[in-house]
Amino acid sequence: MQDVYSCLREAHDQYLLAIAAIVCIVGVYASFSIARHASRAEGPSRRTWAGVAILAAGCTAWATHMIGLLAFQPGMLSGFEPLLTAASLLFTIIGIGIAVATAIGRRNRLCRMASGLLLGCSIILLHYLGQSAFLVTGHVSWNTRLIGLSIVASLPLFAVAMVIAGDKRRALRRLAAPLLVIAVAVLHFAGMAALQLEYDPRIELPESAISPDVIAPIVASVSAGLVLLAFVGLRFALAARAQQRRDQLRLKQLADLAVEGLLICEDDIIQATNSSFSNLAGLRQEDAAGRPVTALIPGFMASELDEGEEQDASLNHADGRSIPVRILRKTVAVGTRQQTIIAVRDQSERLRTESRMHALAYFDDLTGLSNRQRFNEILQGCCHATERDGHPFALLLLDLDRFKSVNDTLGHVTGDQLLTRVAKRICACVGEADVVARLGGDEFAVIVRDAEHADRTAGMIADLLERPFLIDGSVIDVTSSIGIAVAPRDGCEPTLLSRHADLALYAAKHGGGASFRHFEKEMSERAQARRALELDLRRALAREEFDVHYQPQVDPGSGAYQGAEALVRWQHPIRGMVAPADFIPLAEEIGVIGALGEWVLRTACLEATAWPDHISIAVNLSPLQLRDSNFTAIVANVLRETGLSASRLELEITESALLQDGETAYRILHELRAMGIHISMDDFGTGYSSLSYLRRFPFTKIKIDQSFVRQVPEDRDAVAIVQAITSLAAKLNMTVTVEGVETTEQRDFTIAEGCNQIQGYLISRPVERSVIRSLFSVADKAVA
Ligand code: C2E
Ligand code: CA
Ligand code: CA
Repeated sequence: MQDVYSCLREAHDQYLLAIAAIVCIVGVYASFSIARHASRAEGPSRRTWAGVAILAAGCTAWATHMIGLLAFQPGMLSGFEPLLTAASLLFTIIGIGIAVATAIGRRNRLCRMASGLLLGCSIILLHYLGQSAFLVTGHVSWNTRLIGLSIVASLPLFAVAMVIAGDKRRALRRLAAPLLVIAVAVLHFAGMAALQLEYDPRIELPESAISPDVIAPIVASVSAGLVLLAFVGLRFALAARAQQRRDQLRLKQLADLAVEGLLICEDDIIQATNSSFSNLAGLRQEDAAGRPVTALIPGFMASELDEGEEQDASLNHADGRSIPVRILRKTVAVGTRQQTIIAVRDQSERLRTESRMHALAYFDDLTGLSNRQRFNEILQGCCHATERDGHPFALLLLDLDRFKSVNDTLGHVTGDQLLTRVAKRICACVGEADVVARLGGDEFAVIVRDAEHADRTAGMIADLLERPFLIDGSVIDVTSSIGIAVAPRDGCEPTLLSRHADLALYAAKHGGGASFRHFEKEMSERAQARRALELDLRRALAREEFDVHYQPQVDPGSGAYQGAEALVRWQHPIRGMVAPADFIPLAEEIGVIGALGEWVLRTACLEATAWPDHISIAVNLSPLQLRDSNFTAIVANVLRETGLSASRLELEITESALLQDGETAYRILHELRAMGIHISMDDFGTGYSSLSYLRRFPFTKIKIDQSFVRQVPEDRDAVAIVQAITSLAAKLNMTVTVEGVETTEQRDFTIAEGCNQIQGYLISRPVERSVIRSLFSVADKAVA
């Protein structure tokens, strides 16, 4: 070390050493800045500037070295061997060229280290070639220890300098050039110290030796050239920086337009943020700049997120909250630099919406109870548990009786309030572990975890719901029907268990409501039979297995035929004759009554055209037919097709048809009456027997139900009712038909009461069309 130091202090001209240092620094700066410019440029100019950078680097090394040699004062005459001197310059440029080419644009550390070592080797070669070209009038010997030291000490410095020159951190990158200068200095001074000279007056410089006086101006010109290049490099650097500032500003302006929060980062340090981000994080833009990204988004490493991929993270809000965000990353070139743009999307609203959606998907909006979806999942879980441990639980299905009429009469708002209150009352009856759900409409379900409590719970619910509800000043009375199925006894599979509870509910409802029923095997069998019948009925419609029978209606006094009632029959291929009471309600339930009714109407009207003109045909209508707003057109069509005069057609309806959707029925009946069709009120006396219906609707006839006729003349109440109806009809200008007349006493009674028409087994049972035809033609002949 001592040798190196004394060599530096005593054997060198300090002034020239300073110049060497300056030239080295300026040259390194020129090479780096121009190399950087080359890396930014494209096409041919990139190659040109890269060449210039390599040349500058080579010249820097050479000039520094030569000035270093010129500064060296060996204390004897010295000169330079021209060939070796030129070779040193050439090799340096080639070596440095290869080294720079290896490093340019590469961030890979190994690559850059290799380039640093290559650079080091080239400069070491330059140094020792140049030193060999240094001629003196004396003996030259080498201290190999110092040569070794010069190589071992400088090579790692070259390598490190090149590695950090490509580092992402700018502060570290800035150290690269000084480190290079130090490496050159270490190499030079250790190398010079290794040179041991001993003056010998006998030795003369060769002829060809170039004197330092000749070399000095060459070196000076090269140095001046480097200074010039350094200025060019400086200009490039300034222009690049200005461009970068402009780019950054533009980026920032663009970023401020974005709705999403944006962070512009370099090396995971925030350079700028947009206003959306400031709003999102509650942080001023200037407070965010300079902070590491992880300070705001803990655990987020931009480099670990691939471009185009998204990642969930949380953002630290200035007020300490943690905001759920989704992050996207993109690298963009800003000026000369690569910057990372991190887009931060607020997820709070989305997560809130998701949880709202979840609530909507799983809970009933109106009552807050579990909905069908969630209930099914819970039921599934219960079934699994029971399968495992055998512990029985009960499924209760509940339906309000006559809820529809509450809705129809008091409106949907009241209906909704009623459902909410019903839900509360049901919840008050169940245990903590039990589950209450609203499956839709007025349908509720309860899972009673302990099947032993099923009856008690059902009873409590039924009792509590029977207590009147006071809603908006109206007192509402409702009752409920409940069906119970117990798992595993009645099935341990959700669908089966629900079906069984449903059958029990159906039974409870058909038993008159206001009660609960347990599932029984027979219910399932009945349901199966019903399903079979339903299938048969649909098939029967397609195959026309129906027939119409006719029951004559006569004048009670003269016995003359006035009309006939059409009564449908189903000739089932296996079951035989099926009575209308057994399939009309089913046809109504499964929605085929419209087609069946129209078929009966058409058949009966067609048949009546074969009868004498004064004989009318009465056809029964289902209440459902009167809800079809198209019904008038259907009847008109049938009359046109069959050619039957409207005045010969009589349509029989029961009061139940007027109870629901009375408005449509009202309109249709008036339209039909306007066409000249007669309208009969069937089964009068069995329903509400509402006088207002008789007045509002255009009835032309009342048919007294056979249940009264059967009791006359013995039963005084029945007699009174028949008398009341007869006098009422007379006052309302309607005719009266008495049905179900089986005895002569009954007939005589009706004659005495002044009824206009009788119908019953006494006259004839309902008969096939051939029979009715012969009856009417016989009668016709008799009349004739
Ligand atoms: P309804 O309209 O009251 O018809 C009279 C029922 O009483 C008929 O039964 C008839 O056979 C029966 N009947 C007639 N005279 C007597 C009698 O002296 N004694 C007794 N015990 N019964 C008598 P049916 O044919 O079984 O019809 C039953 C019900 O089916 C009918 O009652 C009617 O409501 C309905 N119905 C029949 N055909 C049709 C149809 O084409 N369309 C619709 N919608 N309903 C129909
Ligand atoms: Ca009838
Ligand atoms: Ca009747």
